Amino acid sequence: MLKRSEHVPEIDRRWSWAEIDLAAIRHNVRAMRRLLKRGCRLMAVVKADAYGHGAIACARAARDAGAGSLGVATVQEAVDLRTAGIDLPVLILSEPPASTAPLLIAHGITPSVCTAAFAERYGRAAADAGTRAPYHLAVNTGMNRIGTDWGSIAEFARSACSHPSLLMQGVFTHFATAGDPDERFMRVQQRRFEQAVAALRAGGTDPGIVHAANSAAAILAPDTHYDLARCGISLYGFHPGPNTRKLIDLRPAMSVHARVTDVHAVAAGEGVGYGLAHRCSRDALVCTVPVGYADGLRAGLSGRIEFTVGGTAARQAGHICMDQCMFEAPAGTAPQIGDEVIIAGKGRAPGATVESMSAMLDTIPHEVAVGFAQRLYRVYR
Ligand SMILES: *Cc1c(COP(=O)(O)O)cnc(C)c1O
Repeated sequence: MLKRSEHVPEIDRRWSWAEIDLAAIRHNVRAMRRLLKRGCRLMAVVKADAYGHGAIACARAARDAGAGSLGVATVQEAVDLRTAGIDLPVLILSEPPASTAPLLIAHGITPSVCTAAFAERYGRAAADAGTRAPYHLAVNTGMNRIGTDWGSIAEFARSACSHPSLLMQGVFTHFATAGDPDERFMRVQQRRFEQAVAALRAGGTDPGIVHAANSAAAILAPDTHYDLARCGISLYGFHPGPNTRKLIDLRPAMSVHARVTDVHAVAAGEGVGYGLAHRCSRDALVCTVPVGYADGLRAGLSGRIEFTVGGTAARQAGHICMDQCMFEAPAGTAPQIGDEVIIAGKGRAPGATVESMSAMLDTIPHEVAVGFAQRLYRVYR
């Protein structure tokens, strides 16, 4: 048994953490819903632990703001939502291993379907349990990731999905280029998708919930809304493309913080960190914070970003290590051990944001945000 004094809250065990603003997530869900056509529902995509923001808390926040269903990537993510008592419909956005069929039935988790082998196994599991097996049919319209090809969808539904316990609850596709200012290929995919849905109907199959849009298409192309929009990145406050900024007010929900753990007076000309990659050009105070690339602060940002300390920008100095990194205190300031540093802000601080980091790394904010979930403790505000 631990003594009382030995119970140290997780937030106090390391001087670095991520803050998640759930009010921002609720704001973003409402802003997206306002933009959707009448009758179009919002699915909150909470895969990869809600893009690093925490799936359970974000699912609840999204539900409170009017999301009607949840999208995940894996069976385990779906089971975790159920275990936490979240009872919204949950769709797995790809086809899971067929061996998971009984587990899906037991938890009321809806899979995407695109192979006959899975459909058969899933139908049998439902029959064994004396229930129906709802699924969404995934249609490949040109992204060539998952799905049955758009041209053979009616035939697939007729033959592969013929088990009497299977219940088609929806049909969907996914756009490869939705955030791209050049809409042409998205329109090609849209046409193919509409042909596939029409073929299903012509074959006497009710496709149920028809959906295609991710965040980018939901904001930029209202005629892709259909019955449901699957929104991920927008709910976390990031813009999915260069052209969405003027169309919707999104608020970033994540920021990353740390406290100074060490301060060194370093003479001009001395180096900092591995390889002494940074050289102080003046006598400087070099401060250390316990955030490194194993926390999602990508090594590719080394020496290129600014933190915010006491409202002032401070250049990160030297290679970002696995668990720590250093910065030079702004001239004329004297940070103390314990002072708070904003590692990634939400745009108001002078320093870096998740978005500016992702631009610098030539990647998307999804990847940088997910990185900050690796090890940092999360605090909800
Ligand atoms: C991840 C994902 C989404 C959400 O995309 P965002 O760009 O984050 O809005 C929607 N649909 C599918 C199939 C996905 O895999």
